[in-house]
Amino acid sequence: MNQKNWKFETRTIQEGYAPDNGEPRVLPLWQSTTFKYDTAQSVADLFDLKAPGHMYSRISNPTVEAFEKKIASLEGGVAAVATSSGQAANALAILNICPTGGHFVSSATLYGGTFTMFSSKLQQMGIEVTFVSPSAPAAEIAAAIRPNTRCIFTETLANPALEVLDIEKFAQIAHSHELPLIVDNTFPTPYLCNPFDFGADIVTHSTTKYLDGHACCVGGIVVEKGDFYWDADKFPNFNEPDATYHGVVYMRDFPETPYSTKLRVQWIRDLGVAMTPFNAYLTNLGSETLHVRMDRHCSNALKLAEFLQSHPKVSWVNYPMLPGGQYYDLAQKYLRGGSGVLCFGVKGGKKEGEIVMNNLHLAAIVVHVADVRTCVLHPASMTHRQMDEAAQRAAGVSPDLIRVSVGLENIDDIIADFDGALSKI
Ligand SMILES: *Cc1c(COP(=O)(O)O)cnc(C)c1O
Repeated sequence: MNQKNWKFETRTIQEGYAPDNGEPRVLPLWQSTTFKYDTAQSVADLFDLKAPGHMYSRISNPTVEAFEKKIASLEGGVAAVATSSGQAANALAILNICPTGGHFVSSATLYGGTFTMFSSKLQQMGIEVTFVSPSAPAAEIAAAIRPNTRCIFTETLANPALEVLDIEKFAQIAHSHELPLIVDNTFPTPYLCNPFDFGADIVTHSTTKYLDGHACCVGGIVVEKGDFYWDADKFPNFNEPDATYHGVVYMRDFPETPYSTKLRVQWIRDLGVAMTPFNAYLTNLGSETLHVRMDRHCSNALKLAEFLQSHPKVSWVNYPMLPGGQYYDLAQKYLRGGSGVLCFGVKGGKKEGEIVMNNLHLAAIVVHVADVRTCVLHPASMTHRQMDEAAQRAAGVSPDLIRVSVGLENIDDIIADFDGALSKI
């Protein structure tokens, strides 16, 4: 295991689970809440975090652990913690380091659910956020940092604006203020981008999307790179004894994985937002073909983007790999492919866009992205409808924007579907 020299494709299939002689070849589903031990002392040691092992599936489980190890390897991190959803992953990624009274800086181009969590729920919990435009000059972004700022949060490929993040710019701003950079890497997946290579410290995913890839399971994961120094002034909870674990000090007792250990044993334990073994089993199964699926998602999306760009009834198309696009240069630097999501607007606007959406047959209207089936969504009236128009525009959502998640069907059929719907205008 942990064959560091294995290439990505090999690790998607082989990492995380290595059977011993005579054991099941495929990662088993350990559908058990609890685990048996021979002595009271063994369990006491688990409660004090003195020995590794599973005691209760809210905190850890062998099936979930195998999936966590695989994703940690694919991202190049030291450890990962799976969660019940992508929302839980992003919430815990921040709560683990930002206490009540704290503040963080976030990119304004975010997934709608993340934006709502930051601007409402975390605010109500006494954690303040300042939104910045990811394309703003570094000095302007740095000016949002305060003495009580504890992290910077971003998305690699913003959903649905498809703005490509200048990860190195953000990492430099964060590190010059001794802050960690958190990157939600859901859309590219580790196959198309490894934010750790460009200075990110924590990576999160909604595994609901391409990592599962089949629209079966809601889930999330938080990955720790492992070289951020959690200093005692800014991050006392990493350096002071944790009374709920008989005085464990995360920086002292878990020097290689302080962030992920703390996230699991405090936040997952206390809030109970663990990934279930069954979801880990299915998501892991989906993830085994990640590299093959992503190649086809990328090539199908590029072909559909090119078709739409040349269509007389389409006013604009945004796909990171279209030459001449606003984020093309950043995409060349940071992404090994454009992923399967594109956005476009129809001439006329919202009403004409609705006609197109209502006349698609293969592409279904669903609140989802990033699975094998092509689907469409109108963010302004669906995922981003909690926001007013100004906030929608700041998040990169214009009223006419149609988001397409290009699936793995034959590209000729996908193009024919859009061609037919556009002809109905
Ligand atoms: C879907 C999504 C989330 C939220 O994940 P859930 O699994 O739906 O809770 C967070 N970030 C991004 C970029 C997403 O696309």
